[in-house]
This record gives sequence, C-alpha cells and structure tokens, in this order.
Amino acid sequence: MLREENYWLTTVRPIAVEEHPLPPSVDAAIIGGGYTGLSAARRLAQAGLNVAVLEANTAGWGASSRNGGMVLTGLKLGVETLLKRYGLEMSQRLFTFSLAAIDTVEEIVMQEKIDCSFSRTGCLEVAWKPSHFDGYARAAEQQEKFFSHKSRVLTRQELPAEIGSDLYHGGLMEEISAGINPGQYVLGLAQAAHHAGAVIHENTRVMSLERNGNGYTLNTKRGSLRATKVFAATNGYTTDATPWLNRRSIPVGSYIIATAPLPEGLARQVIPNNRMIFDSKHYLYYFRLTPDRRMLFGGRAAFFPESGNAVRQSAEILRQGMLQVFPQLAGIPVEYCWGGTLCFTFDMMPHAGEKDGLHYAMGYAGHGVAFSTHLGRLVAEKMLDLPVENPIAELPFPGAPLGLYSGFPWFLPFAGAWHKILDWVA
Ligand SMILES: Cc1cc2nc3c(=O)[nH]c(=O)nc-3n(C[C@H](O)[C@H](O)[C@H](O)COP(=O)(O)OP(=O)(O)OC[C@H]3O[C@@H](n4cnc5c(N)ncnc54)[C@H](O)[C@@H]3O)c2cc1C
Repeated sequence: MLREENYWLTTVRPIAVEEHPLPPSVDAAIIGGGYTGLSAARRLAQAGLNVAVLEANTAGWGASSRNGGMVLTGLKLGVETLLKRYGLEMSQRLFTFSLAAIDTVEEIVMQEKIDCSFSRTGCLEVAWKPSHFDGYARAAEQQEKFFSHKSRVLTRQELPAEIGSDLYHGGLMEEISAGINPGQYVLGLAQAAHHAGAVIHENTRVMSLERNGNGYTLNTKRGSLRATKVFAATNGYTTDATPWLNRRSIPVGSYIIATAPLPEGLARQVIPNNRMIFDSKHYLYYFRLTPDRRMLFGGRAAFFPESGNAVRQSAEILRQGMLQVFPQLAGIPVEYCWGGTLCFTFDMMPHAGEKDGLHYAMGYAGHGVAFSTHLGRLVAEKMLDLPVENPIAELPFPGAPLGLYSGFPWFLPFAGAWHKILDWVA
C-alpha cells in the first residue's frame, strides 16, 4: 500500500521542541531550520551568542529531511565547465571546498554522536548515452590531474560489479562520497544546535524584515524580534520576505519513492557495494539502498515544487523509471512516495555571502547535504568575524537575464520539456 509520506521520517523519533515565547531581541536570528540554519545555529551558539532559529514549520521540515541522503563530492557543474568558467586556481579551491564539506558532515556526525548511518560508500555516475561514457575518461583524467581526486572509469562490461542493470553504457566511480539517513541527520543537528544553546522556534514564519540601526527587526507570525545579525537559510523555500534572494533562487521539485525492503540476495544483485548512484541525464534518476535495504529511487518526475497531486503522479512515473533500470524489482511493492523542493540558481552554483547586512547561503542544487552544512558553519564563522576560506562567497550572485523573474519559476515546464528532448535525442 502506497503511503504519501517521507520514509526517512518513519525512522526517527521526533524531537521535543518546547514552545518558547519570542524574546524581544537576540544576537543572531536564523531564518530556516534545515541543515544550513541548524549548522549555523550550532556554531554561533557554541561561540556564546544568543541564537534564535525561526522556522516556518518544524525543525528539518524542508529538503533536509526529504533528500536522497547522498553526500557527494564536487559540484553540480562538471570539471570541464568549472575550469572554463573559473580557471584553474578557483576551480581547485571550489573542488577542495566540496571535499571539505563532506569532512564537515562527518566531523559533526562524530562529534555530536548523531546516529544517522553516515558511511563513505562512494558514488557512481552511470552513462545514459554512449557519448556520456566517452566523456568519463577525460573527466577522470582532469580530476586526477587538476584536483588530485581519484575516480575510476567502468566499462559497460565492468558495470555488473556495481549495478544490476544493463541499461547504462559505463560508469564513473569514486570512493569519497558518503550515504546518510537525512532525517536522522537533520534532527541530530537540531539536537546539537539546541544543546549548544540555540533556541528553535517552530511554526514561526518570518513575514518581513526591516533594517534598523545595525540590525534587523523580524516580523513573524508569532510577533516581532530584533536581531543584531540575521542569516537567511531558506534555500528552495525562500519567499518574498527576502526579495533579493527570492529573485535569485529557482525552486525545483524533486520526488522519491521507496520500495518495501528487498530480500538480501536481490539487494546485493541490484547495488552490490551500496554505492550512491545517479545517471547522466538532464532529467536524471538517482538511487540507492536504504540501511534497511529498500530501493530509494528519485528524480525530477514533475518540475514544479511539490504538491499532493505531483507526488501521486510522480510515484507512478518513478516506479516505471525504476523498472526500466531494474526490471528485476517488478514484484516489489512501492511503499512510500514524497517530494521536496531544491534550490537552483541562474549560474547553477551555490552562493553565500552578505547583502545589506543579511547573511545567506543557498542554491546547492542536488549537492546540498554537504554544502549546506559546511556553508552554514562558514557563514556563521564570518558572522563571528573569524577568518574563513570560502571561495563560494567570492562568486557574484546573478539574477535572471534581463531581470525577468520575481520568484515564480514560470519557465520550468519549458526547461523541463527541453531537458527531456535533450535526453532522448540520439
Ligand atoms: C527530493 C530531494 C532529494 C535531494 N537529494 C539530495 C541528495 O541526495 N544529496 C544532496 O546533497 N542534496 C540533495 N537534495 C538537496 C538538499 O536536500 C538541500 O540542498 C538541503 O537540504 C538544503 O538545506 P537547507 O537547510 O538550506 O534548506 P531546507 O532544508 O529546505 O530548509 C529551509 C527551511 O526554511 C524554512 N523557511 C522558508 N521560508 C521561511 C520563512 N520566511 N520563515 C521561517 N522559515 C522559513 C522552511 O520551512 C524550511 O524548513 C535533495 C533535495 C530534495 C528535495
């Protein structure tokens, strides 16, 4: 029986967040209680600041509890594009940053003893077309030469050692990426922020901000408070409460199904070494096994941010996609389906920095588990006036071409259709 419910949240014990009245003022207010906001809250509270996390729903409600749990190296943009756009030195700093981001997740998981099945499983990209496979050898060579990062090209004949599917034309594999239970991780992070002294205010949507003196007044559904420092950590759920960020962030829906637990032999046949796997399509599929051996299969089944209707339609689209990849799962029921909203930007890069005294970090596309945790921490350290190595903060944050965007992504269905065409043309 299909449940329209986030499977990860069935594996966690909800944390008890006490309802506190809003204080009249705090040192730091953080808007959004996902990885970005909670990682920042933990760091700021550890430094002794009086911190309020203002979350419109509940802690971890957004993408942070809903994602695939793939903690990936690199960025959304491939090595070649990075080198062309940013040159060698900046590309090296960006790639190194992506590795440091995974280390940050691991360090926090260890320090805070978060029980979330963090494991360096490695990841595998599989080639949807022969031409995609042809690019892998060059990508592996460039990664090793410029970033000292080792990856291995797998021919079509070598793939069965890593994936029980004959759909793909080869693969590119590396061993640094990790898998995690994102629901357990985000709630562990919320506990850690709480233990450090941050106060999480749930059901406290920030409706508007007013700049005054050297801080802001934040008007929320539960009243107003003043904060000397403010961090917007709203990613794909950004609204016109922060119009400058809203005009720069593109919310995109992504959906996931999870099957019933697979028999051990079948699980070992479909993904023998527990890799995090995604394919090379524009309209990509990503998949992995959960710690209890469910096939978790995700994709951009519908392009708009999630809604009840889109979740139901996506369940069937993704089930068909899963059977195309793994026909041997035909008899396995799909038990869960849910969606969430990612944040893309107009240059496909994450962004972090400060605008008019408002700190922000967002736009991680599908690489947010590691980047959000790391950038949350680094932006917090910047707020503390500590020196930080953050190449992301040096990137200009572009808006839409010709300014033709106010926060409603009217162009997504067209972009989605175009991507589908690109995936299917020979
Ligand atoms: C289906 C799916 C699969 C994904 N898979 C992966 C993956 O495998 N690997 C990976 O690296 N990344 C993945 N991602 C991306 C990753 O989950 C996100 O990049 C990351 O969780 C972003 O964290 P965040 O804290 O910035 O945002 P979120 O977790 O989305 O949190 C933002 C929060 O801000 C709150 N908020 C918004 N506006 C306001 C307001 N005005 N007032 C108060 N609160 C507000 C929201 O309620 C929300 O809780 C996936 C995302 C989705 C949706």
